[in-house]
Amino acid sequence: MAPLEIVEGVHLVDGTNCNVYLIKDGDSWIAVDAGMPGTHRKVLDYAQRLGARITRMVLTHYHVDHIGGAAALREATGAQVLAGAADTPYISGRARPPAPRSLTARLVLTFARARPVPVDMELREGQRVGRFTVLEVPGHTPGSIALYDGKIAIVGDALITRKGRVTLPPQAFTLDPAAARRSAERIASLDFEVLLAGHGKPLVGDAARKVREALGLGSRP
Ligand SMILES: [Zn+2]
Repeated sequence: MAPLEIVEGVHLVDGTNCNVYLIKDGDSWIAVDAGMPGTHRKVLDYAQRLGARITRMVLTHYHVDHIGGAAALREATGAQVLAGAADTPYISGRARPPAPRSLTARLVLTFARARPVPVDMELREGQRVGRFTVLEVPGHTPGSIALYDGKIAIVGDALITRKGRVTLPPQAFTLDPAAARRSAERIASLDFEVLLAGHGKPLVGDAARKVREALGLGSRP
């Protein structure tokens, strides 16, 4: 597995089903999302090769492909787990998540369950994680969050970049599509060069404009 540095200090760990990002923040590193259950080894191996000490893990939302490796990663690294306040009960196993809209999605989520992981800090709009500001982007799940530093937007499944095209998340797995659309439009209203989505390739260069075009929003006034 060759290292994949997207921009300086921002790495994508491949082969974990959802994208796991490792981001240098001062002397330590932040992991964003944790991949499917069993893929945590890939994240640990990658971090080891970078000499990266992961001290914080931000989970963008409760879906199994994003949090499956979280419990094992927390045990291996001692990293703090941070997640959107509204998704925390489902990540920590205190509550069962709402049933998805489609039967297929319900079946998928019945068979793929993540080991619950304690959430050390609940994140809300405007809070800081290193140089990033937390944005609440509900819709795909109630507690979906994004991170934004003025140049990079890390959006979980609030936007997808499959095959180089920016789209909204699949409706079958999205609890409130109308809210998801509003959250995507909110992200599109920001300025950023790099879009890091939970699925699909990173979009590097003029990313905000590409998102606005993809959503049919035209240019910003
Ligand atoms: Zn998802």
